[in-house]
Amino acid sequence: MKTVYIGLGSNLSGSMGDPQKQMQTALEKISDHPEIHQLNTSSFYRTSPVGPQDQPDFINAVAQAKTSLTPLALLDYLQQIENEHGRERKEYWGARTLDLDILIFGQQSIHNTRLIIPHPRIEERAFVLVPLLEVKPNFSSASGKSITDLLAKCSDQGIVKL
Ligand code: ADP
Ligand code: MG
Repeated sequence: MKTVYIGLGSNLSGSMGDPQKQMQTALEKISDHPEIHQLNTSSFYRTSPVGPQDQPDFINAVAQAKTSLTPLALLDYLQQIENEHGRERKEYWGARTLDLDILIFGQQSIHNTRLIIPHPRIEERAFVLVPLLEVKPNFSSASGKSITDLLAKCSDQGIVKL
């Protein structure tokens, strides 16, 4: 069984409702999987968009769980949930009904065409780092930087706990 961390984000209503509702139904669906256990979710945060600014604020959270799935099987399941929530892949970093990213998968490093783990943008995004630290207070940066330094570097990114 591996401990995994999943980043969730939404800034558009989709087939399951408004962004918060999209996130809640996604979390229910994740915990429904027979090979995913002990789901523990951070607070929800309202965050300013990174990249294109002409889009609504995001709701973000990070979930911790234990799983016996392989990384690719977990990715398949998360992408199925994205699709069920009306996800369309359009503009890079643009608005989306639901985004589910695998941030950390046990101690594994993975680099293939479908998966990069640890997720390459953990350290520079307040909307990942802040909720991640809530469920994984012992997170330590792969680059060896201190959490204080990482948080200081992204302190200009708007983030409010809901
Ligand atoms: P992003 O999350 O970067 O905005 P998408 O959600 O549209 O982009 O995902 C694009 C692709 O990223 C997916 O098809 C998936 O194969 C790939 N990907 C690479 N690493 C990961 C990861 N750690 N978690 C989720 N998807 C990943
Ligand atoms: Mg994604």
